[in-house]
Amino acid sequence: MRIVVIGAGAAGTGAALEARKTSREAEITIVSNEEFPEYSRCGLPYAISGEIPEFEGLVLHDQGWYGKFGKVKLMLKTQVTEIITASNRMEVKHEDGSAEELQYDSLILATGSKPSIPPIQGLQKEGVFTLRTIGDGRRIMSAGGRGKRAVVVGAGLIGLELAEALHARGSEVTVIEFLPNVLLAMVDDDIAEVVKKRIEERNVKLILNTKVDEVIGKDKVKGVKATNMKTNEKITVEADILVVAAGIKPDTALAEKAGIALGPAKAIKVDDHMRTSVENVYAAGECTEYPDFITGASTRVGLGTVAVRQGKVAGINAAGGNATLNNLLNTRVTKLFGVEVAGVGPCTDIAAKAGMKIVTGKVRGSTLPEYMPGGKEIIVKVLSNDEGRLVGAQIVGEEQVAQRINVFAVAILKGMNVEEFSMLETCYAPPIAPTWDSMTISAEAAMKKIRRK
Ligand SMILES: Cc1cc2nc3c(=O)[nH]c(=O)nc-3n(C[C@H](O)[C@H](O)[C@H](O)COP(=O)(O)OP(=O)(O)OC[C@H]3O[C@@H](n4cnc5c(N)ncnc54)[C@H](O)[C@@H]3O)c2cc1C
Repeated sequence: MRIVVIGAGAAGTGAALEARKTSREAEITIVSNEEFPEYSRCGLPYAISGEIPEFEGLVLHDQGWYGKFGKVKLMLKTQVTEIITASNRMEVKHEDGSAEELQYDSLILATGSKPSIPPIQGLQKEGVFTLRTIGDGRRIMSAGGRGKRAVVVGAGLIGLELAEALHARGSEVTVIEFLPNVLLAMVDDDIAEVVKKRIEERNVKLILNTKVDEVIGKDKVKGVKATNMKTNEKITVEADILVVAAGIKPDTALAEKAGIALGPAKAIKVDDHMRTSVENVYAAGECTEYPDFITGASTRVGLGTVAVRQGKVAGINAAGGNATLNNLLNTRVTKLFGVEVAGVGPCTDIAAKAGMKIVTGKVRGSTLPEYMPGGKEIIVKVLSNDEGRLVGAQIVGEEQVAQRINVFAVAILKGMNVEEFSMLETCYAPPIAPTWDSMTISAEAAMKKIRRK
């Protein structure tokens, strides 16, 4: 059996290595147009800041490892130009311009995403960047730095992690965001507010409700012109570099050309076995969309965690096994300027759009008992439907956020309601955890609201 995987990111590499575990005999090839084998894109901001000393440190295994230990053939700097599904083959083009044809019995598309580029005039100028690859990271690092003025377009997870990295390198950073607050794809406005405040305290300038129209400067970036969406006021921000971090767009070009169906979110539609509309063709990772567990809406998830899980299922099935994808909750976390922020399940606006009536319970607690010095404030917000079923949670604080959101993820996955969750027996000891955890208190608050209704 010949299995070909297109893309050596988290989904593609994971798929290939799982396929190998499933079948000892399969001939497995990964084709990637990048220079490096799989590396952590998530680590790029920390290599830019210098916290991770070398970009190469993000590469998980060197190329030799794939043949020797992975028993997988890895073709780097090779572009798949066309897939002909009727005859199970594809055309590839190598770096030197030579072309080759590859045959497959099972194909896995793991082509990922590309940065989404808003309609800003002058983006071709020197000093404009996006952040997706190690190459991008290196270019941003050498152009930014002490004394440089940087504008980041977009206050989502990538934009803000990058803003923090550039700030750490001594750049003077301004973030310009179209929406009224930061991180709104990740958490609700009230939770985002805590992060926003912290960013401003750290002297990173945030300009919200504002659309960047134009890059100024002759050939090189000298700044941007932008418009406030509320007041229509025109502003100019001077800059030496501009990084566009305005979201991602699934890379579906090959799939579309091959007649593989996309879904309503304009990504490759897959089922719970990661099968596409074409037989023996699977897809995984950021190029796909899949029904959200809570809203049922076909959703694209831009998370490495999801890409790896989808890749695993695609790899097993492509190699003749039988695996099913677990329900997806979009469990997410980041840390910005010392504040940890996390979410699971849909934000309130997305749930409302899906027709759900959301009841929330929110508490401001501490990570330690009141009487114990050293506790840090933690805000926990739980989202329930009007029948009391837990559908989401969001947490912000300086510590212990990630594992609390994971607790909510388990509860949501298991269909718990707020009443059951409020009675959870959490652990307690003065130096490490409070008697009543903010998680259970937030569920109790939601439960009381539902009862009153
Ligand atoms: C700065 C940054 C920070 C992030 N932080 C987090 C985080 O903290 N937590 C988290 O969960 N996620 C995070 N993510 C998201 C996570 O990195 C992605 O979800 C994950 O990398 C997606 O994996 P993938 O395999 O689907 O796609 P990709 O990693 O994009 O891999 C797809 C690969 O396919 C290649 N390809 C495409 N077309 C072809 C072709 N025709 N021929 C050959 N090769 C092709 C592409 O060049 C690419 O190398 C972050 C992303 C970025 C950029």
